[in-house]
Amino acid sequence: MSDIDPLRFMLKRQREAFDEEMHPSLEVRRDRLNRIGRLLKENQAALCEAVSRDFGHRSHHETIQLEIAPLMGALRHTRARLRRWMKPERRSRSLEFLQFSNWVQYQPLGVIGIMVPWNYPLLLALGPLIDILAAGNRAMIKPSELLPVTSALLARLAGTYFKPEEVAVTEGGVETAEAFSALPFDHLIFTGSTAVARKVMAAAAENLTPLTLELGGKSPAIIAPDYPVAQAARDIAFGKLMNAGQTCIAPDYVLIERSKLETFAAAFIATAETFYPRQSGETHYTSLVGERAHDRLMRGIGECRARGVKLMSAGIALPAKGVHIPPTLVIDPPADCLLMEEEIFGPVLPLIPYDDFDAALKFIRERPRPLALYLFTCDKAIEEKALRNTISGNVTVNGTLLHIAQNDLPFGGIGPSGIGAYHGHEGFKRFSHARGIAKVRIFNPARLAMPPYGRIAALLAR
Ligand code: NAD
Repeated sequence: MSDIDPLRFMLKRQREAFDEEMHPSLEVRRDRLNRIGRLLKENQAALCEAVSRDFGHRSHHETIQLEIAPLMGALRHTRARLRRWMKPERRSRSLEFLQFSNWVQYQPLGVIGIMVPWNYPLLLALGPLIDILAAGNRAMIKPSELLPVTSALLARLAGTYFKPEEVAVTEGGVETAEAFSALPFDHLIFTGSTAVARKVMAAAAENLTPLTLELGGKSPAIIAPDYPVAQAARDIAFGKLMNAGQTCIAPDYVLIERSKLETFAAAFIATAETFYPRQSGETHYTSLVGERAHDRLMRGIGECRARGVKLMSAGIALPAKGVHIPPTLVIDPPADCLLMEEEIFGPVLPLIPYDDFDAALKFIRERPRPLALYLFTCDKAIEEKALRNTISGNVTVNGTLLHIAQNDLPFGGIGPSGIGAYHGHEGFKRFSHARGIAKVRIFNPARLAMPPYGRIAALLAR
């Protein structure tokens, strides 16, 4: 049997089940959401352990804080608002259509595919699933082949907490992923790299499958002259070093006033050393996902070293298992090096000095539109100027990463960093069809304008 047959069979099975229940009640949807909550709560330790094994090392605290806790928050937010979101939305009518009542019905789309990257395997599989099930759909999930232990556990747990026609997890390698992206889903959400997204989009185009793409890119942090440098360094270290920098919205590089660069560098290194002290028993520093990721970063660092760029590394406790690079600063690298041309996706942080804040904003504008932007300022005028003169998927002002944890904000990219946003109400709407319904109540005014055209048509023509 070819790789694709079981996938097509599952899609057919889910679609048939969907056809039997095209508009699940609030109770049915809440029950499905509750089961995601139970899956997480009852298996928290096993899930943390599976992720840690696949990574080499990842602290259970990190998996709970960065994946499980945000999922529980999203579940609470969605559950509490779902009744309101499901209600039809009354719309206005113009004078000539006073006989109408108009409304929008939010309809489930059907069966939705979820393609998941390796870096947040729980958050990026179950986060979309919350919105998808809340909107009344069914889902097929394809986790990353780079995390076999976690993927197998997710498949087993999905089978325990859900019927296969509600939620199904498909394990497999790149071939399976290719077959998955070619399925005629009613919608496909892909989270991953821009390069693979191009292939997924081409495969989906064959079926005209609508897509949500959650991609990556180089998210800048910009520190305005008024902002205390040590505070910014602490927040940027937090955003950069969580998951060892393997975060789609990690600050990729920092724009800082030239005169403050050294102060920033010293504060960043000192912060990293307090986050992961050498004398600690168990380090909370995460491993890189594999040799390939490690070698690519080492190539970038090696290139900068060879070109005479200054590097600074923090002396921290590294885990015994897996492959690692300590937090490393790259001071003012050239624009045409690997570390400034590709998304870094690791604990390596270029510092780019600026002499003029407007020029720093231009530096951001000249590059592809990023997934996130981090702005550090207490000056309202600077904040407004930066927000008006840059474009990015999201922004956190005076912090890093935390826009993703705001359940009532859309999360997503723009241009090469993504298409479409989800989370909360936006997620519910993303995975629903907003069907506009116009209902003639007593008298259909079109009857006055039907041929043969008479007085009313002449009146309209005046
Ligand atoms: P990836 O693109 O290599 O893989 C993502 C998914 O695509 C996996 O499920 C994989 O099985 C599948 N895949 C691989 N090759 C395929 C092919 N030829 N055809 C179809 N599917 C294929 O990404 P990754 O390395 O797992 O994750 C890292 C990337 O994801 C980074 O660029 C990061 O910025 C991005 N990311 C974005 C977000 C976001 O929310 N925007 C979140 C996390 C990661």
